[in-house]
Amino acid sequence: MSILITNIQELLQVREENTLKLSGNQMKELPTIKDAYLLIDNDTIVDFGSMIDVSTIKADKIIDATGKLVLPTWCDSHTHIVYAGDRSQEFVDRINGLSYEDIANRGGGITNSAKILQNTSEDELYNQSIARLKNVMTLGTGAIEIKSGYGLTPEAELKMLRVIKRIKKEFPLKVKATFLGAHALPLEYKDNKQGYLDQIINVMLPQIAKENLAQYIDIFCEKGYFDLNDTEQILNAGKHYNLIPKIHVNQFNAFGGIALAVKHNALSVDHLEQLNPEDIKALKDSDTIAVALPSCSYFLSIPYTPGRQIIDAGLPLALASDYNPGSTPSGNMNFVVSTACIKMRLTPEEAINAATINGAYAMGISNQYGSITKGKKANLIITKPISSYNYLPYAFGDNHIDTVIINGQVI
Ligand SMILES: [Zn+2]
Repeated sequence: MSILITNIQELLQVREENTLKLSGNQMKELPTIKDAYLLIDNDTIVDFGSMIDVSTIKADKIIDATGKLVLPTWCDSHTHIVYAGDRSQEFVDRINGLSYEDIANRGGGITNSAKILQNTSEDELYNQSIARLKNVMTLGTGAIEIKSGYGLTPEAELKMLRVIKRIKKEFPLKVKATFLGAHALPLEYKDNKQGYLDQIINVMLPQIAKENLAQYIDIFCEKGYFDLNDTEQILNAGKHYNLIPKIHVNQFNAFGGIALAVKHNALSVDHLEQLNPEDIKALKDSDTIAVALPSCSYFLSIPYTPGRQIIDAGLPLALASDYNPGSTPSGNMNFVVSTACIKMRLTPEEAINAATINGAYAMGISNQYGSITKGKKANLIITKPISSYNYLPYAFGDNHIDTVIINGQVI
């Protein structure tokens, strides 16, 4: 089946196939074609160009995009979309004055989500998760990374990863799985952190590798959770199974986690609300990308990742949602892009680059996703009629999407 999109007011993010990530000043440019067409054959972008050249092209289906923009779908490189229940009560507790730490100390937080998930069947967990997944697909997400980390027992962590595997098989969007066993310390291991790390290393990891359930490994490297020594152990253990690190680091405190991640060739370092000059220095001359999660800062009222500083230092930056029940109960990447412009002072070009090609890089798929490039997957957003791409982040909180195409299928 071929689809021809005609009369596109502006086709965004047109790139050569060798562009796999954008750093620093490169992020300021968003190459486009005005008055364009784009041709899809099955699941692949096969041609595009100026409308002047379209007359000889035939297709099974034609979509007229007069007044509309076309861009690649969002690549959301950091989510926890597989979870059970929600934490709306803790949301109210926080409004009434409790801190994230207070709530965690009362048995709330991540361990609360883990308790609910442990008591939820795999089918039920799948059903709850795909309702959220279908929603983010209609909001323009065409590739997504999903983490475990709300199980915290071998059985429940494997349950999460099997649900991710099933999603990968049954949905057209691209899915990457990350094992985040070291997300929090389960209550039973409150006074025996090494015991839990040993369980991750000796029980969970071998089984995950055997079933091929994850491509990446993650840890919450943070004061009160897991320190540098724990992180080193987990990343080394992951390496044994060829799991590449993508880690939670510098959310509340900066204490050397970024340099450690770079030393282990991490694909990404995520959060970075706290950042010092040594962290920037560690990222220079590395292949590790910084990932900012502005919806999390918005929801928790914590500082935003200094994205401006990261880009101005010549580094690459990606944007992701962090969709999770505790700190970001939203997977809306349109809001992420808007918030990055409003609160982090990214330009619309930088924010769109960060949420497409650089997001794809942060999950290791930018050779196939994240730009309008011949041979890449046909993952496209067609907007409603709008004046320019600046309007997307500017008119925040509204849905500007008319049509989403994922893997060549109209969603
Ligand atoms: Zn996260």
